Amino acid sequence: MKIHFIKRNRIFIKTVTLITGIAFNQNLIDSEISVKNENYKREKMKKTESEWKKKLSSEEYHVLREKGTERAFTGVYDKHFEEGLYLCSGCGIKIFESESKYDSGCGWPAFSEAIPQAVEETQDNSFGMKRIEITCKNCDGHLGHVFNDGPKPSGVRYCINSVSMDFLPKNDNKK
Ligand code: FE
Repeated sequence: MKIHFIKRNRIFIKTVTLITGIAFNQNLIDSEISVKNENYKREKMKKTESEWKKKLSSEEYHVLREKGTERAFTGVYDKHFEEGLYLCSGCGIKIFESESKYDSGCGWPAFSEAIPQAVEETQDNSFGMKRIEITCKNCDGHLGHVFNDGPKPSGVRYCINSVSMDFLPKNDNKK
């Protein structure tokens, strides 16, 4: 009887371990998928130029869709240092955190890093300069450029147009 009891008990324990193990792994897989859905497997926002013109202000359209640049020291977020998140003004995804924002003195909002998987880098040889353009990974909107003269540890400076961003204060940050 005793042996049977122990055996049954072992089988029970093994079954419980197996089931909870599967559930735990499934949880891990689910959370990985949700992260991937948010950051990696997002489908790009596609709009026609006339749809963008309707959605955006003329200033936003010029910067985001025509790769314009706002005048130095004129952007609303140049000297803005509240805690919160900076969102793409074209599509609303999170692109920068206030923790990485600093005053570079260059005349545009500067960040030492971008939110992972939020932006794309492309070589830009326009205007006789060799720069790296930064665009939103979701809607391809032009954000600015990235340079190698930022503070440590990243050493980079994301130089971003205020017009390309909206700000979400930390207290409203439930997205
Ligand atoms: Fe965007």
